[in-house]
Amino acid sequence: MSETFDVVVIGGGPGGYASAIRCAQKGASVALVEKKAMGGTCLNVGCIPSKALLASVHFLTQAKHANLMGLDIQGEVNPNWPKMIARKEAIVAGFTKGVTGLIQSNGIKIYNGAGVVAAPGKVSVSGQDSAQLECKTIILATGSEPINIPAFPFDYKTIISSTEALSLPQIPDSMVIIGGGVIGCEMACIYAAVGCKVTIVEALSQLLPNEDAWVGSLLMKEFKKLGINSMVNCKVTAVQTASDGATVQLEDGQSIPAEKALVAVGRRACCDKETVENLGLKMNGPAIAVDKQMQTSVPDVYAVGDAVGTTYLAHGAFQEAEVASDNATGHPAQMGDYNLIPRAVYSFPEVASVGLNERKCAEQGLEVVVGKAPFRSNGRSVAHNEGVGEIRVLRNKTDDKILGVTMVGASVTELVAAGRALIGSTEKIEEVCFAHPTVSEVLKEAWEDAFGLSLHVPPTKK
Ligand code: NAD
Repeated sequence: MSETFDVVVIGGGPGGYASAIRCAQKGASVALVEKKAMGGTCLNVGCIPSKALLASVHFLTQAKHANLMGLDIQGEVNPNWPKMIARKEAIVAGFTKGVTGLIQSNGIKIYNGAGVVAAPGKVSVSGQDSAQLECKTIILATGSEPINIPAFPFDYKTIISSTEALSLPQIPDSMVIIGGGVIGCEMACIYAAVGCKVTIVEALSQLLPNEDAWVGSLLMKEFKKLGINSMVNCKVTAVQTASDGATVQLEDGQSIPAEKALVAVGRRACCDKETVENLGLKMNGPAIAVDKQMQTSVPDVYAVGDAVGTTYLAHGAFQEAEVASDNATGHPAQMGDYNLIPRAVYSFPEVASVGLNERKCAEQGLEVVVGKAPFRSNGRSVAHNEGVGEIRVLRNKTDDKILGVTMVGASVTELVAAGRALIGSTEKIEEVCFAHPTVSEVLKEAWEDAFGLSLHVPPTKK
C-alpha cells in the first residue's frame, strides 16, 4: 500500500530539510526521506564539526598568547585531541537531534531509508523504513561527495577526505593537504594548531584561487606564522602509501613524505543513477540541471543544494530550497544573483566576500574604485590582538554603486552580512552610523575610502 503526500523530499541536509519545512509552512503535506543522518554533510561531516574543532584550536592559540594580553598562565596549554573530538561529536549529536525534532514539529513524516524515484510522483523507500510514496511534487536534495582522483584514490586511512580528517583517532605528526581551497585552508589551521606539520599543495597560483590575489598572498603570509607551509603552482600527480604513511608526488618531480595525505580538491554532486534514468533527468555532468525556479527538466521535480552543483554551500542550499518550495506550493519564485550569496572561510585569519571581486570586475570590463581599510588602524581589533587583515569595498565608477566586498581578518565571516547590505544600498554614507569602537568600523572605513572619505585611512591616489 502506498502513502500519499503533496511533496516528497529526498535528502535531509540543509537543502532537503529546509525544503520540507518551507513546504509544510505553506500548507503542504510532506515526507522527508534520508538514508544516513539528518542534517547531511553540513551538520554531520562539514560546516558544524569543522567549526567546533576550529573553535577549540582558536581557544588554544589564544591561550598560548595569553602573556601578550598581560596574563601569566602556569604550565603549558596543550590540546587534548580525544576531548576535542568528543566535544565536536556532542555538538553534532545535539544539532542532529534538534533538527529531527524541528522537522517532526512541522508535521513532516520522516522515512529513514534510501529514496529512489521510480516515476514522476512515485518514490520507493528501502532500508530501515520501506515504503511506496505517491506525491504531486518531488524535491531532490541528494547532496555531494568529496572528489576521488584516480591517481590518488581515497583509502580512508592514509589518503583521507575531510570526513576522516574530522574524526582522526590521534593527531598525525605530519599531513600534506592536496588543494588550497576552502577545506584545505580550514583543515590546515586545525591541524597546524595542534602541532601537526602541515603542507598545503595547491595547483593554481594562490590559496583560495576564487578570491583576489591579495587574499591568497595575505593568507599565505599568515599561515607561515602558524607553521603551515603553503606551496602554490604545484600540482599533485600521485600518492604512494606504505605502512608508515604517504609519499606525495608533485608534477615537478619533488616528493613530500607525510603520515596522512588529505585530498581536498573539491566536491561532486550526487544523485542516484536509477532516479536519473527513471526520470530521464537532464544533467550537467554529475549535477542535476535546473532552471531559475529550481525546476529540473521534468515537470513537478525540483532539485536544490549540492545536487545541482552551483554553490556547494549550505546557505546556498537554503536559498535554493526557499525558491523550490515556493514554486512547489504555488508561489512563483526564482533564484537571484548567485554572486550575492556570501562566501565565508573560517581559517586564521578568516576570509569572506560577497558580490563581485576585483578579478571579476576586470573580466566584465567594469571600472571600479577600490576602497581599502586595514584592521591595524582599528582600535577594537588591536585591543583584541587581532590587527591582521584588510577590507576592500568596490565602487562602480559609472554609477557609484557598491559591487562587492572582500574581507580578510578576525570575525569577517560575521561581518560579511553587513557587507552584503552595502550592495545595492542607496543610503548615503553620511547617514549610516557604525558603533565605536567595533570591528565593523573597518568596513565603514573601506566603504568611505571607496568615495575618498575615510577618516582614518591616509589619502591615496585613486
Ligand atoms: P575547492 O574547490 O574550494 O578547492 C579545491 C582546490 O584544489 C582548488 O584550489 C584546486 O586548484 C586544487 N587542486 C585540484 N587538483 C589539485 C591537484 N592535483 N594538486 C593540487 N591542487 C589541486 O574545494 P574544497 O576545498 O575541496 O571544498 C569543496 C566544496 O565544499 C567547496 O565548493 C567549498 O565551497 C565547500 N566548502 C565550503 C566551506 C565554507 O563555506 N566555509 C567549508 C568547506 C567546504
